[in-house]
Amino acid sequence: MAKKDEAPEPQPLPSPRLLPWHSAAIAQLRQAWTANRLPHAILLQGAEGLGKGSFTAWLAAAVLCEKSVDGKLDVCGACTSCALIKAGSHPDLHWIAPEEDKQSLSVDQVRAACEKLSKTSFRQGYKVAILEPAHQMTPGAANSVLKTLEEPSRGSLLVLITSRPSGLLPTVRSRCQKLSIARPSTADAMAWLQQESGKTVSPALLEFSGGAPLRALAYADGRFEGLNQSMQKALKDLLSGDADVTQVAAEWEKDALIDRLVWLDLWLCSLARTGIAGTAERVTFPGGPAHLPSPSRPLNISALYSMVDRTRALKAQLARTALQRELAVESWLIALLEVLASSPAGSSRGGAPVARAS
Ligand SMILES: [Zn+2]
Repeated sequence: MAKKDEAPEPQPLPSPRLLPWHSAAIAQLRQAWTANRLPHAILLQGAEGLGKGSFTAWLAAAVLCEKSVDGKLDVCGACTSCALIKAGSHPDLHWIAPEEDKQSLSVDQVRAACEKLSKTSFRQGYKVAILEPAHQMTPGAANSVLKTLEEPSRGSLLVLITSRPSGLLPTVRSRCQKLSIARPSTADAMAWLQQESGKTVSPALLEFSGGAPLRALAYADGRFEGLNQSMQKALKDLLSGDADVTQVAAEWEKDALIDRLVWLDLWLCSLARTGIAGTAERVTFPGGPAHLPSPSRPLNISALYSMVDRTRALKAQLARTALQRELAVESWLIALLEVLASSPAGSSRGGAPVARAS
């Protein structure tokens, strides 16, 4: 059983960092800390791109910081504990993530971390174990966690990080205190993005990122602009007959297909909303002066929403082979062209899009 080496290994931890939208969660934890009622297990939930990792790194650093012991939960940055964390070698901190080339947290990894929580701490303080992403535990790993949750040891903190709480066993969820990181308001997120990126970003970028500022920031370096241009060009070429579905499907399959599907989902929703509102000249996504020309006739709203459903179904099938993906994109494009060409008013434009002749 005790085959694991106790020597602390350097941990590739996210840097501790609090972001403006973390403040409510921090206030909650500080209150619990001051009242000496920090939970022994926290289920930290929130969408991707909200900095759950950097938040948890801060929480671990604060719980282990020597200055926090009799005061406010904080990171002093100057004590031995803080120095050990900075060096990635704090013996009482165990951050468990999938091993290289693996998707899940294995039973061995999780059991080893849980064992460490049950032992005496190296530095007479807390022992902290973090599992990320917790919804990717194997069933055996989840059972190990369950045992630890049922019999928590004193002075231990287990943090389960997840963007998909429904992927965890209900028995695990119910034994943790839930803590949520919420998305900031659009105005707050835009202000933060502008400050971090040093430039004005388009609201479409935040929409594309699902309101998650860190995800938006990762795309603010021109990636979103490039995607936007590429998508608009492909759609224009398809509609004008300058490209056929086979070419476009092959191109999309090879490069950033998931991003393209997210973009298409938002664009179709925007088209449908615009159709409902009857203001055909204003498609809000992707917005800007360069957006696609609005259709010159009323669109079939329910057909557009069925394309949204098809887009989401396609997104769920990306684990298939390249050829299968390409064919699925092709048939999606043919359906899109049919929707855009069909008109409930019966009017029709010249230059019908070219479908593949095969
Ligand atoms: Zn410290």
